[in-house]
Amino acid sequence: MKCPFCGSLESKVLDKRESPDEKATRRRRECLSCKKRFTTYERVEAADLVVIKKDGKREMFDRSKIRTGVLKACEKRPVTLDQIEQVVDLIENDIRKLGSSEVKSTMIGNLVMRRLKRLDKVAYIRFASVYREFADVRSFQKELKKLLKS
Ligand SMILES: [Zn+2]
Repeated sequence: MKCPFCGSLESKVLDKRESPDEKATRRRRECLSCKKRFTTYERVEAADLVVIKKDGKREMFDRSKIRTGVLKACEKRPVTLDQIEQVVDLIENDIRKLGSSEVKSTMIGNLVMRRLKRLDKVAYIRFASVYREFADVRSFQKELKKLLKS
């Protein structure tokens, strides 16, 4: 691992930590030449995944899009960034567990809603109202009533 400060290849690992999904390993290193410290991430390359959108177009799966949607839904809610990262990890796992190389965007939306429902009810309602575009107002209102009661 090359030191970003002096380019030396000699470093020692001070600390090693796995991310919750065990797909990334974070290593804190110290350069043996200049003694400066830096962090490296090693991420396992996930298999390609294609998303089929509502209009039938296909695009490569992009985890950051899920993250953006979740972040938006959780705006000003008592949810930490760590919790958001964790929930995005869980959603990505859910999607990959389907075991298919193609996934419909509606399926992804459902998985996001399922996870958000457990994380924060308001975030869930926000996401659902945008995601479902009020296409199914009656069932949405029913769900909303159920949530407000509990
Ligand atoms: Zn160095």
